[in-house]
Amino acid sequence: MTSASGKGPRLLLGAPIAAEIRATVEREVSAFRGKRGYAPALAVLIVGRDAPSAVYLNQILKSCAKVGIEGRLVEVPGRASAAAVRAEIERLNADTQVAGIIVQMPLPKRIPLSTVIDTLDPAKDIDGLHPRNAGLMTLGYEGFLPTTAHAAVELLKRSGIQIAGMRAVVVGRSNVVGKPAALLLLRENATVTICHSRTADLARHLKDAEIVIVAAGSPGLVTGRMLRKGAVVVDVGINVVDDRLVGDVDFASASKVASAITPVPGGVGPVTNALLLTHLVRAAQDQAQASPGHRNGALQPVGSRQ
Ligand code: NAP
Repeated sequence: MTSASGKGPRLLLGAPIAAEIRATVEREVSAFRGKRGYAPALAVLIVGRDAPSAVYLNQILKSCAKVGIEGRLVEVPGRASAAAVRAEIERLNADTQVAGIIVQMPLPKRIPLSTVIDTLDPAKDIDGLHPRNAGLMTLGYEGFLPTTAHAAVELLKRSGIQIAGMRAVVVGRSNVVGKPAALLLLRENATVTICHSRTADLARHLKDAEIVIVAAGSPGLVTGRMLRKGAVVVDVGINVVDDRLVGDVDFASASKVASAITPVPGGVGPVTNALLLTHLVRAAQDQAQASPGHRNGALQPVGSRQ
């Protein structure tokens, strides 16, 4: 459980896991192309451009290119109306080569999230925003998982961290990260506590946790003093402080206590990008197999897919 030097905690790096995932995706995309004669496309919809989004989107488009997926950047002007955004999503829903659609967040304030969620075809909702996918996840059926939450738990699994029977604390309860991460840990048979901004004594809960996933968007929120000795810590947070990317965990102090910890950047982020491609290929395969009018197919319990 220690780092290569034997001094610090084991670093849970995202890059090798992401490479492993991408290699599988590349084979699947190649098989899909061979069978169907075209590359599946991922549409990335962005409403107005800002610098941090541009960096993130370019990473996704580059990852697509590496594995043979067609990455399409679809830009809607920042001043566009909700109706224009809806129309663009409907156009992508109808495009049979587009297997998956992601919408860059945050949206401009004028455009409610429901504009996207209500319009997105659940079969193309590869980032698990739609209530259909959230419901499938909650009830234990195959659906599209919110990718970042999926990545946090997949990183633990692929790093060989035992989850079953462990006491886990998730800090954050957003629909995109905290809540689904907690549900996925529960699916892996952890005993899960969810903390949030109204939790009375965060440290008290953390002190008991063997696994900690932090997704609060608050730099340095979790410090070493709050953690149990030997805890495994996954830091989902991405914050810019003094032009540097930092997580929600104070890495220096947490490293003195944790047995394993993700760095920021370089932990959850690369796994998220790679898993998004996995979701895209699955969407393409499902859509290619589905008969017209039966897009969403029959419900499949988790683990029943071939
Ligand atoms: P969000 O929607 O703002 O949710 C933050 C959650 O943290 C909320 O549930 C909030 O509680 C809770 N929280 C905030 N301050 C807290 C505190 N002091 N103590 C305890 N809980 C607190 O954010 P998000 O979209 O879930 O994202 C969380 C973080 O993950 C952000 O830093 C974001 O940039 C990062 N992120 C990373 C990736 C990646 O690939 N690595 C992807 C997406 C997001 P309430 O519900 O009570 O308000």
